[in-house]
Amino acid sequence: MQISITKTTAPKQKPANYTGFSPEFTDHMFVMNYTEGTGWHDARIVPYGSMEFMPSTSVLHYGQTTFEGMKAYKNEDGSCYLFRPEMNARRVNISNARMSMPTLPEEDFLQAVKTLVEIDKEWVPSEKDSSLYIRPFFIATDPYLGVAISKTYLFMIIMVPSGPYFGTLGAVNIWIEEEYVRSIRGGTGYAKTGGNYSGSMIAQARAQQNGYQQVMWLDGIEHKYVEEVGSMNIFFKIGGKIVTPALNGSILSGVTRDSILRLCRDFGLETEERPITVDELFAASEQGTLEEIFGTGTAVVVSPVGKLRYKDREILVGNGEPGEVSRRLYDTLTAIQRGNMEDRFGWRVEV
Ligand SMILES: *Cc1c(COP(=O)(O)O)cnc(C)c1O
Repeated sequence: MQISITKTTAPKQKPANYTGFSPEFTDHMFVMNYTEGTGWHDARIVPYGSMEFMPSTSVLHYGQTTFEGMKAYKNEDGSCYLFRPEMNARRVNISNARMSMPTLPEEDFLQAVKTLVEIDKEWVPSEKDSSLYIRPFFIATDPYLGVAISKTYLFMIIMVPSGPYFGTLGAVNIWIEEEYVRSIRGGTGYAKTGGNYSGSMIAQARAQQNGYQQVMWLDGIEHKYVEEVGSMNIFFKIGGKIVTPALNGSILSGVTRDSILRLCRDFGLETEERPITVDELFAASEQGTLEEIFGTGTAVVVSPVGKLRYKDREILVGNGEPGEVSRRLYDTLTAIQRGNMEDRFGWRVEV
């Protein structure tokens, strides 16, 4: 793929002292067009900036859009890595197929990400717990109001430095949502597409009003099986085993989830992917076998859970400190990502 490059003439000041996403995006972005009949064309890297769209642009009305979330990490010695980027290249095509959008050759996706990161490499923070968040996304661009599959699209990548989250590895409290669901089997839960997130904000807001930081989603039919927490996959340590819900079509298949399962087996822990009910969690808690709960995702890596609330019942996990396995998984995975530990699984890609 040929990528034309136009560098900015006004590089921005790099941000300092921020938590979470920096207020400033990097100097450049990647853009490519798709036109039915022609395919993908005009790959280009240009200065980051605003774009113009017709008010009729179809993504604004019917939400034909997908995205990815990945990161670049920099070691103290200046080397810079992506983490399993081929997983994102593959997953976005699964999302695109679900949303009736054209797929993109995985090697083109990877070339676009790598070239952009190389150009804005100075923006990759090297401090511990910091990284460069990379957001590839696709949008439908036909200026047409009929509900129809768009014939034109944009593929873009934007990037933003990401600092340590306040209280990294501090336990979060979770509200188990009884009324709203994130997705159902046959729906779009396994795709990273905008509507999954806009539809979930109402429950997130309610959890926060009640003093909980995140929502735990249950299955859409019986409302009794655990699916995910916020936009993270969820893990439990029950009686020494690491248990996570099996991928069932409504759960997003996380790159972190897959990596955590591999690391747990490597630690010699038994893992199970299977349906898990809320009742099982309360029973395990009463028996004293619910040892740890943690969410996983690219943004936070591993996020320990301190408290679960369901109707008028509550489960307390641990003592508010991250559990032993959560801490070890966080330390190991972040060390592999930043190049501070041997890459035994071949997960790093140097940029
Ligand atoms: C992105 C995402 C995850 C985590 O996936 P990673 O590849 O580990 O970042 C989990 N659940 C939802 C709903 C997501 O959107």
